[in-house]
This record gives sequence, structure tokens and C-alpha cells, in this order.
Amino acid sequence: MTDQDRLAGELEHLREQGLYRRLRVQETMAGPRAVVDGTPCLMMASNGYLGLAAHPEVMAGAREALSRWGAGTGGSRLTTGDFRVHHELEEELADFKGEEAAILFGSGYMANLGVLSALAGPDDLVVSDGLNHASIIDGCRLTRAQTAVYRHGDTDHLAGILRDRRAGRTWIVTDGVFSMDGDLAPLPAIAGLADEHGAGIILDDAHATGVVGPGGAGTAARFGLQGRIDVQVGTLSKALGSQGAFVTGSRILVDYLRNRSRSFIFSTAPPPAAVGAARAALRLIRANPHWVAELREKTDYLRRGLSALGFSVPAGETPIIPVLVGDAGAALRLAESLLERGVFAPAIRPPSVPPGESRLRVTVMLSHGREDLDLALDAFSRAGKIAGVTG
Ligand SMILES: *Cc1c(COP(=O)(O)O)cnc(C)c1O
Repeated sequence: MTDQDRLAGELEHLREQGLYRRLRVQETMAGPRAVVDGTPCLMMASNGYLGLAAHPEVMAGAREALSRWGAGTGGSRLTTGDFRVHHELEEELADFKGEEAAILFGSGYMANLGVLSALAGPDDLVVSDGLNHASIIDGCRLTRAQTAVYRHGDTDHLAGILRDRRAGRTWIVTDGVFSMDGDLAPLPAIAGLADEHGAGIILDDAHATGVVGPGGAGTAARFGLQGRIDVQVGTLSKALGSQGAFVTGSRILVDYLRNRSRSFIFSTAPPPAAVGAARAALRLIRANPHWVAELREKTDYLRRGLSALGFSVPAGETPIIPVLVGDAGAALRLAESLLERGVFAPAIRPPSVPPGESRLRVTVMLSHGREDLDLALDAFSRAGKIAGVTG
């Protein structure tokens, strides 16, 4: 059998299981109205919760940085790619998070790989939530540390693992907001356990940055735990509407990461346009602290509406609304039926979620109007019946 035959066979197997994935091309900017595969529709699945990718001031920020600094950086930060604009954004991010220092990465995926592999080694233990993002799982693999996974959000299970730990440094790593469920990490209990057992905390606030906590400062701020989290990861690519990521913490931590984090050292510095866009987005977020409550109101409205239609929608406080379906095929049918009605909310299936937990991951953007949300609810009402998900 040739490689081509083998790969084609695997793809066929994925199709049979309803797990085959394909790309859906958009012809529009990332906003609430999109053209997907040639079909105009309402975008109900973006991570751009504040609609900033298409915000005129954010695009102007990108253009200004592009004009001043050029298209690319020509090297890694430690060689020839370190521009003043990177430092300006890092200082602004540290200030936003109330931390001493920040360091930029090319993406959230690279930040998690870089942080985990720099901080944990073969003598250490990394304890990770069962639903953490794939980049954390891959980062754990790179550490060559012992890794233990606790059941999602189960701090009793976490406590048991911490009691049994062996020598070496212990790190607890968790998403702040879980990407597929939209729920928050039980951070107060985690911080208590970390204190009790002398463990460090790495918090990945990819989905919280800009949308959770006072002024969007994140999960730690949401729980009043500023200054208690050793390492915080955030992305520029979700609510901030740009590309890239950052880590905040102490000056020493950041200095250490500059020296030891391989995904920082061996990768080209983020492009000026992305940095300029992120700076403009951050300025807007800081000037509009009421956005968090506005987004919450819109999300609550859609959540209530979906529940009233008979969908299985857990309670929550973030713009991520999981519409639980279970079967991968049924989730796919629901998503397709929605798209026929002009609503884009793709099915999330294994391996992004555990088997039997397929769902639609619906998200709300600040730029959705009430009429958009009503249109979505109307489409859900009909698509749910057609797909046999609601009665
Ligand atoms: C999206 C995401 C990442 C990856 O960030 P990118 O900037 O898209 O690479 C990391 N962690 C979590 C929890 C995420 O949701």
C-alpha cells in the first residue's frame, strides 16, 4: 500500500465517522455578517468577541505600524527583529494586566509551548485540567515532566494529585475560560491549593482576555486574584482581533522566558501590523470598560432564547455558548441546517471535544445587534426540529 492509499483510507474512515473536516472559505472581513462558501450568513462562532478585527481604529493601528515599521521583522527578537513597537505593546499589556512585565509570542499555541517547556523539566510535575487547550497538552509533552490530568474543574481530584506529588517543582496549568464549554476555571480553589502545596499556576486566558473580569482584564481579575497567579498567557488573536500572544508575570519570569523559551527564541518576531492592531484594540478595550457588561447582556439574551427553544445549553457568563447535541452526525446536521437558514455555527466534534459530546459552539460578538440574535434564534428554532435535536 502506498502512502497515498493509506492517507486516503484514513480520510475515508474519518468521513464514515462523521469526523471529516473541510475548510470553509470566507469572502468577508471577520465580522457579524460573513459570506461563507459563497453564502451570505450571520457569523455565530467567531472568537472575535468584540468585533475588533474589522474595527476602523484597529485596522488604522495596523496600517500605521505597517507604514512606520514595514511588513516583517526579519529576525527573532533576540537577533535582528526587536523593534520599539514590540516593547511598547509589552509595556501596555503588563499595565493592562497589573503585572510587572510582558513578553510577546507569535501565537497562543507558541506561547503555551514556550512557557511550559521553559518552566517545567524532567524532575517536575505538571497538573493539567482534562479540558485544557491542545496547545497546553502539546506543551506538557515538550516538558518531559511527569504530567497528571485532573477531571475538568474537579479541585478534589486536583488536591489528591497534589498530595501524592513527588519532589521537584509542581505547576498547575489551566485555561481561564474553557474554549469549547465557555465555563470558568475554579480559580479561587486552585489558588488555595497552589498555596497549600507550594505549586505554581499557569493560567491560559486566551478566551478571557478583553471579555472577562473588570474591563476585560481576565479570569484572575474576575475572581480578585490579581498578583496570585505566577504566569498568565493571553492571546492577541481573539477578542483583540489581531494575531499573536503574550505572557505576563514578574520581571524575572519574563527575563527567564526571553532566555529559555524556544518558541520565542527560534521564531521571527511578530509582524508590526499585528502589533499595531493589538495596540489599538487594547486602547479601545481600556477606553470602553462597559463593553464587558454589554457583551454579557447580549450573551444572556441568546442563552435564554436557546434554552426556551429546548436546546441543551448550560448556564454561563462568557460569550461562548455550547449547544450540546451528543452525536457527531446530529451536530453536523444541525450545523448544516442552520447554514441553509443563513447562520454559521459549525459543529465541534472529536478530537476537539470528547466522543459523545459533539455540539455547536455558538458565540456572541459585541457587534451583533438584537435583530441578529433574533434571526439566529429563529433559524435555530427551525433547524433544531429538522435535525431532530429539539422536539
Ligand atoms: C485559541 C487558544 C490558544 C491558541 O491561541 P492562538 O493565538 O490561536 O495560537 C491557546 N489556548 C487557548 C485556551 C485557546 O483557546
